Amino acid sequence: MARMPVVARGCLARAAVARPTIDFTRRSASDGIGLGTWSGVVGSGWWASRGAHGTPPVSLGATMTAASDELVCVTGATGFIAAQLVRELLGQGYRVRGTVRDVARAQAAFAEAKLPGRERLELVTADLTEPGSFDAAMRGARCVMHTASPYRIVVKDPRKDLVEPALNGTLEVLGAAQRAAVKRVVLTSSVAALTDEPDPTKKLTEADWNTKSSLQRNPYYYSKALAERAAWDFMEREKPGFSLVAINPFMVIGPSLTASLNQSNEVVRDVLTSKGFPGIIDIAWGFVDVRDVALAHVLAMTTPKARGRYICAAQTLHMRDVVKVLKEARLDQRYRVPKRDLSGAFGSALVRLGSWFQLRAVGTYLRTNLGRRPELDNRKIKRDLGLTFRSVERALLDTVNNLERWGHLAGQTAVTQRGLR
Ligand code: NDP
Repeated sequence: MARMPVVARGCLARAAVARPTIDFTRRSASDGIGLGTWSGVVGSGWWASRGAHGTPPVSLGATMTAASDELVCVTGATGFIAAQLVRELLGQGYRVRGTVRDVARAQAAFAEAKLPGRERLELVTADLTEPGSFDAAMRGARCVMHTASPYRIVVKDPRKDLVEPALNGTLEVLGAAQRAAVKRVVLTSSVAALTDEPDPTKKLTEADWNTKSSLQRNPYYYSKALAERAAWDFMEREKPGFSLVAINPFMVIGPSLTASLNQSNEVVRDVLTSKGFPGIIDIAWGFVDVRDVALAHVLAMTTPKARGRYICAAQTLHMRDVVKVLKEARLDQRYRVPKRDLSGAFGSALVRLGSWFQLRAVGTYLRTNLGRRPELDNRKIKRDLGLTFRSVERALLDTVNNLERWGHLAGQTAVTQRGLR
């Protein structure tokens, strides 16, 4: 395992950082959630041999206090959400061990991000598709934040590119957490694990499960539903020494700490520049700022009463509302913000027809989301974790600033694309 040198491990100016004491008292595995037995539905089942890579359990006690050796492991540390999570953890004084696939690339990305407290960040390699890959990464960690999972809508092979790393990787991470005697695992799940096709007549709650997605139909959603189901099944079956809390965000937007453009910010870029959107279509998303998602993960770790799943979305906005925010900020003077209204019955019929000529994954996504405004009940996360959401309008504008900062809008201005309108 490649390691980034750790600078000044644990000797920090942390006295100034106020943090709550963390109670990792083990909770009931199911947390009252109806469990199916989805694990093993997909994939080769190779994770069954993971015991061979086991490490002796580390005795850590049941309560995580503000001692100087607190270590949190974040999987997929350079991801859009994970990097903000690393920033939040370092800011709160924790030691962080981030797993990445390419240490050199991650080192360069974090060096550029210049995060305060970066001397407490250690980077190690691990891959969701390699059995035993996470064992060393979790040694000595009190908590694991499992965010790594492929997030792409269009892939060549949904089983290999999405489902296997998501599902097998989650079981791999949980197995490693169990062997390392971790006290809590916070899983980055998704609203995709709740629904494939939002029902506008009903508010989504944490009791909902996506049972419609498949390898053919919204396979990314399928990967997230399978992975979270498998995680709760693992808890039920193995009764490990850690508790599990799932965070289920919807469309996460906001500033990226690295140059790569993730799938959800790409949607903002595409709306801003009319890329793939022939006009304003009848689609809506539940948005949440990435900084709130990061904080939600930390609160899920530090809040003793945190249990089960948490919908993490601030507000649902229709595409027409998104366009309105962009226009009010006069961004339509710089970018090709969609003008034509295709959100009525006739427009939707055209979009539905057009969806059959799109790439299969895009077409399926359109047909299962068009005209289906998702309504979300986010009271549990506010009540249990005390999370207050930032303004989604502000998050949209911060996203645009950040897209500009990383050069993702270069060559996309209205002037360069179409001449001045
Ligand atoms: P990113 O694409 O930015 O991050 C995905 C991360 O997963 C990357 O760090 C990537 O590593 C890692 N990863 C992918 N495949 C593997 C693998 N085989 N082995 C190890 N690591 C791997 O996406 P986001 O930050 O947006 O998403 C992070 C998590 O949040 C995912 O679980 C996603 O499903 C979930 N989520 C995201 C939402 C959103 O709107 N963004 C909404 C709801 C949930 P590498 O850098 O090496 O490619």
